[in-house]
Formats: sequence, structure tokens, C-alpha cells
Amino acid sequence: MPPPIIITAAVTGSVTAASDSAYLPVTHDAIVDAAVTSWRAGAAVIHLHARRADGEPTQDVNEFRELVRRIRETGCEAILNLSTGSAGGRAGLDERLDCLELRPEMATLDCGSMNFGDERVFTNPFHWLRKAAGRMRELGVRPEIEVFDTGMIANGLRLIEEGLIDGPGAWQLCLGVRGGAPADLVTVAHMLSRLPLGAQWSLLGVGRHQLPVNLISVGFGGHARTGLEDNIYFRRGELATSNGQLVRRLVGLAAACDRPVATPDEARALLGISGDVLTGSR
Ligand code: ZN
Repeated sequence: MPPPIIITAAVTGSVTAASDSAYLPVTHDAIVDAAVTSWRAGAAVIHLHARRADGEPTQDVNEFRELVRRIRETGCEAILNLSTGSAGGRAGLDERLDCLELRPEMATLDCGSMNFGDERVFTNPFHWLRKAAGRMRELGVRPEIEVFDTGMIANGLRLIEEGLIDGPGAWQLCLGVRGGAPADLVTVAHMLSRLPLGAQWSLLGVGRHQLPVNLISVGFGGHARTGLEDNIYFRRGELATSNGQLVRRLVGLAAACDRPVATPDEARALLGISGDVLTGSR
């Protein structure tokens, strides 16, 4: 039996603007609806960024609290994976960790600094990675080790060696961002060869790379991330009309390859999470 595939839906992000796609959820109502719809379509993990009422990305813990509360109120059982990113360069290093106080089951940990597109530098110094991983350990938050390039894998391994993250770890390899690892087979193979034995690995591709990178995951035993954070198109020239549409396509690809889609509880077991499903905190 092929291994189960954990599908993560990244529903809104912090880079794409409402003006890029009318289908991008940016209000709280729309983000909650996208999370619940994606979970119903087969996503075991919902990766969340917060936005203010006007759609502006933020790391404000109060916006995260409201989103988490409203999503849980619907009975949604998906793992909630909160971003500790910079809200598109708006949040400082300390504020980025405030959302951990909500004790989400999972949070991202971006394991290195890099050029992010043409204008931004995504800053994640190692001293901050130590602090972030340590805080996640104290609060029982499972880090998703996000790497955008091979050197960041070395940083993740160092955090495991230092005892700040339980190995072999839950890894998200992010491909195709300008300034990071390109979305090609040789790069994926090399990056996978650097992960610890038994690591849980997921791939994401941004923009036009999303679908081919999903296919690599489905075909070769990995987990996969989709959603409008990473890509707003369903196919060339045609906007995706919802996160659910992208999740449903990925579920279909998994079915074609006999990959059972992991339920949230199956994903918890694979990722090393034991949480209170309905409150999202322990
Ligand atoms: Zn994100």
C-alpha cells in the first residue's frame, strides 16, 4: 500500500494581494471559509497567515486568535499551522513569534535568510532560529522546518542536533522562489538526500511550479502543499477560483496514484503532534 499523503492548504499567505486575484481570501470571513472548505476537500493541515479586516497581512496575534477561534468553531479538525513569517516584511523578529502563545499544533520555522524576489530579503538569523525553536518546544508547538534552499537544511539539522527540534523532523521544501532553490528534479533529489532518514517531507512549488511539484510529491512518496498562497492560477491564464479547487485537484492526483489522503489524525501521528483537536491548544 502506498504511504498516505498529507495535504497542506496554504490559503492566503502574505505576499499576494487581493488585487492579484479576486478569489484570494483576505477578509476573516473568506479565510475561515477557505480553511474549512479546504479541510472538507481533503487537506489535513491548514497553513494560516493573518490579515487585518482590510486584507493587509499582519503577524498581530489578535488577528490570529480570532481566525483560529472562528475556524475551530466550525468543527474543523485540521491541524492549524501558523506562519511565523514576516507578513511580507511588515513584522519584526520578536513579533513574528507572538502567535506561538496561542499554542497552535504547528508553526512554520523558516530556516535561513535569503533574497525573496527582487526587492525583499527574508531575514532569519540563526540566533533567532534557536530562540524560535526553543519557544516552540516550550509551548508544545511542532515546527514545520521550512527550507527554501539547501543551506537551510543544514540549519534545520543543526537545530535537531542541538536538541531544539525532535528529529527526524517535519520538513517543507519550498521551491521556485526567486532567490531560493529552483523547482527542478535535480534540486529536489539533492535536497531530499540531505534530510535525515525517516523525515516527513513535503514539497511546495510557487506559481507555475505548483502542479509539477505536487506531482513529484504524489509520485515519489512525499507530502504536498497547495493553495492560493503559493499560486493563484488553476492553469495557464486561468485563475483558480478557490483553495478548494486546488485541493480537490491534488486529491484527484493522489487517487490516481493510489495514495490514501491522510486524515488530520493520521497526519498528527505522522508529524509527531498530539493536540486538542477542537481548541487547537493544550
Ligand atoms: Zn506561508
